[in-house]
Amino acid sequence: LAFVKAQDLVKIYKNGEIEYRALNGVSFEINEGEILSILGPSGCGKSTLLNCLSGIDDPTSGKVFVDGVNLHALSDNEKTRFRALKMGFIFQFYNLIPVLTALENVELTMLAIGAENKSARRAAMEALEQIGMKDRVDYLPSQLSGGERQRVAIARALVHKPKIVWADEPTGALDSKTGAEIMELIKHLNEEFNQTFVIVTHDDRVASYSERILHMDSGKIISIEKRQG
Ligand code: ADP
Ligand code: ADP
Repeated sequence: LAFVKAQDLVKIYKNGEIEYRALNGVSFEINEGEILSILGPSGCGKSTLLNCLSGIDDPTSGKVFVDGVNLHALSDNEKTRFRALKMGFIFQFYNLIPVLTALENVELTMLAIGAENKSARRAAMEALEQIGMKDRVDYLPSQLSGGERQRVAIARALVHKPKIVWADEPTGALDSKTGAEIMELIKHLNEEFNQTFVIVTHDDRVASYSERILHMDSGKIISIEKRQG
C-alpha cells in the first residue's frame, strides 16, 4: 500500500544566472510500514529529495501525495500542522535543544500538536523508556554520548506516533558500533509499530537494514533494489 507518492519531482536551485537541477524527474512510491533507504554519493540530491517529500522544501515542479494529501497544495500553516501530526524527523546532528533536558526535548513534539502538559510528559517518559533512556531523562544533551543523543532524538521523532519518520544520515555523526546499534533500534521500532522509515544515507551498511534501496545519482533514481527482509 503506497503511503507516499512522488510524481515527476524536479528541483532547480538558482544561483544568480546559474541553474542547477538537483532533482531531475523523480517518481516512486513509499509503502506503508517499510524501511526504505535512499542511497547515493554526496551531492546526488538525497537531502533535496527528502526535504521535498516531507514538505520542508517545495519542488520546482511535480507532486507529492502523503496519506492521500497533495502536500504542496497545502498552505504553509496547513503543511506545518500536517507535518507535526503525521511525521517525525531524525537528523545527523540530533538537533536537540541544548538548554532542555532529554525529557523536555521529547515533550516539545507533544506540545507542538497541542497535547496537555501532563499527557505530554507521560508520553515523553514512555517514549524514552521504550528506547532504553529511562535513567537519562533529566540529562542535558551535553551530558549524553552521541548514541544517547540520537536515542533521545529518535524518542522525540516517535513520541506522537507518526505514520512516517524521515531520517537524514542518522548514523553520520556516530562510530560504526553505535551506528549499528541505532540502526538495530530503528529496525526494532519499525517491526514493533509498523511505522514507515525513510533513511537517507551514503553508506551501504546503513542501507542494508532496509527492505528497499532507492539508488540515486545526479538527481535521478537509477534503480530500486528489493532486499529479502
Ligand atoms: P545529497 O544529500 O545527496 O548530498 P543534496 O540534496 O544536499 O545532496 O544536494 C544536491 C545538489 O544540490 C548539490 O550539488 C548541492 O550543492 C545542490 N544544492 C543543495 N542545496 C542547495 C541550495 N540551497 N542552493 C543551491 N544549490 C543547492
Ligand atoms: P568508525 O568511526 O567506527 O571507523 P566508520 O567510518 O566505519 O566508523 O563508519 C562511519 C559511518 O558508518 C557512520 O555513519 C557509522 O554509523 C556508519 N556505520 C558503520 N557500520 C555500520 C553498521 N554496521 N550499521 C550501521 N551504520 C554503520
